[in-house]
Amino acid sequence: MLLAAVDYYRPDSVAEAVTALVDNPGGRVLAGGQSLISILKLRAATVDLLVDVSRLEEIRSITALDDGSVRIGAGVTYDEMAHSPELMAAMPAVASIAAHTVDPQVRNRGTFGGNLCHNDPINNFPPLAVALDATMHATGPDGDREVDAAEFFTGYFSNALDRAEVLTSVTLPALNGREIGYQEIEIGEAAARAVAVVAAGNGTITEARVVLGCLAIPARRQAVEEALTGAATTLDSVAEATSGAGDGIDPLSDPDASSEYRQAMASVVAKRAVMEALGGQHE
Ligand SMILES: Cc1cc2nc3c(=O)[nH]c(=O)nc-3n(C[C@H](O)[C@H](O)[C@H](O)COP(=O)(O)OP(=O)(O)OC[C@H]3O[C@@H](n4cnc5c(N)ncnc54)[C@H](O)[C@@H]3O)c2cc1C
Repeated sequence: MLLAAVDYYRPDSVAEAVTALVDNPGGRVLAGGQSLISILKLRAATVDLLVDVSRLEEIRSITALDDGSVRIGAGVTYDEMAHSPELMAAMPAVASIAAHTVDPQVRNRGTFGGNLCHNDPINNFPPLAVALDATMHATGPDGDREVDAAEFFTGYFSNALDRAEVLTSVTLPALNGREIGYQEIEIGEAAARAVAVVAAGNGTITEARVVLGCLAIPARRQAVEEALTGAATTLDSVAEATSGAGDGIDPLSDPDASSEYRQAMASVVAKRAVMEALGGQHE
C-alpha cells in the first residue's frame, strides 16, 4: 500500500524539531523510517506531519568519554555504530550487535534512537540498554531531561517520552571489566533474546545483570542475577542459576513462536548470554 499524503519537515536543530512537534499535535518524529514508514503504509497510525531528525548533526555522533562510558547520538545508524572506532574500542560487543542487525539496507537507515523509541519486541537494542543501565537523554518543550533505561520502555511500541520530546542521545556506562553476552533464537526476527553483563574473577561470577528481550518491556531477571553472583563460571553452574529465567514472563504468541515456546527458551538464551559474556562454551 502507498503512503498516504503527509506533510514533511526537516528542521535544522533539535530545538526546531521540538517547536514543530509542539505546534503540530499530529506531528511525529521520523528517524530512519524503517519502522514508522511501514506503519504509516499499513494505516496502523495516522500522522499529519513527519519531523525528520535523521540528518541533525547534533544527534549523529558517538563520543567515548574519559570515564569509559560512551554517548551515542539518537540519530546514529546501526552501520555507523558497527564501524565506529570509539565504540569498537570501548564496547566491541555493542558494535557487533549493530553490525548483525537485520540487513545492510536497514543498517544504513535505521537509527539507535529509533530502535529504542519504537520498542518493537523484536528490536535488538531495548534489552541491551536496560542490561547496560543506560541513560536516555531527551529534549522537549520544558528543556532537557534524563530517563533511566529501566523506566524508558513502557509497553509494546511505547516509551516514556512525551509526544513533543526528542530522544537526543544515550549514555552507555563504562563496562569496568564487565563483559557483554547477547544471544537470541532467530525464528522470524527473534523468538527469544537475552543480554547479560557479567564480571568474574578466579572462576567465580562477581556481578551479573541479565535482561530478557522480545517482551513488551525488557525484563531484568533479578533472581537469576542473585543466583549467578558467587556461582562458579562453569556451564553447569550457570545453567542452574539461569534455569528460572522465564519464570513469570508473559511473551506474546505470534506466527513465529508461541508464548509457551518463548517462555521455555528464556532460560536457554539467558544461559548462553551469560556463558558468552564469560567467554565460555554455550553447550
Ligand atoms: C525488514 C525489517 C526487519 C527488521 N528486523 C529487525 C530486527 O531483527 N531487529 C531490530 O532491532 N530491528 C529490526 N527492524 C527495525 C529497524 O531496526 C528500525 O530501524 C527501528 O525499529 C526503528 O528505527 P528507525 O530509525 O528506522 O526509526 P523510525 O522508523 O523513523 O521511527 C520509529 C519510531 O520511533 C520514533 N522515533 C525515532 N527516533 C526518535 C527520536 N530521536 N526521538 C523520539 N522519537 C523517535 C518515531 O516517531 C517512531 O514512532 C527491522 C526493520 C525492517 C524493515
